[in-house]
Amino acid sequence: MDCVFCQIIQGAIPSQQVYADEQVYAFRDINPQAPVHVLVVPREHLPGLPALNDGHAALLLALHRAAHRVAVQEGIAERGYRLVVNSGPDAGQTVFHLHYHVLGGAPLGRFGR
Ligand code: AMP
Ligand code: ZN
Repeated sequence: MDCVFCQIIQGAIPSQQVYADEQVYAFRDINPQAPVHVLVVPREHLPGLPALNDGHAALLLALHRAAHRVAVQEGIAERGYRLVVNSGPDAGQTVFHLHYHVLGGAPLGRFGR
């Protein structure tokens, strides 16, 4: 398995864990684009949004709830934060294991970087 996020979940590549449960793992982005930049990923390997089907409804809820929990933990839930999924080349997706970026800790540009 050459997926970097699967290797992070398995502990083969080190990461700074922020949150974990049975379905979800969250860790700090190695190249932060905001004061708080955490990646929330399913433990199950899914390449991205196109791979989602009806069977993933509970997993999607778990990912969103984990993202909000990370924001609360990081102290950015009240001031606000952004949840981003990059899908495909124009969005600049570089890792093909579904992941949500939790960005906050300062006022963010309206869109993008
Ligand atoms: P995306 O462009 O949405 O595919 O984002 C992939 C993100 O993964 C980027 O923000 C990278 O900085 C981040 N990333 C890549 N490798 C690692 C790693 N080993 N640990 C933490 N974050 C990583
Ligand atoms: Zn993976």
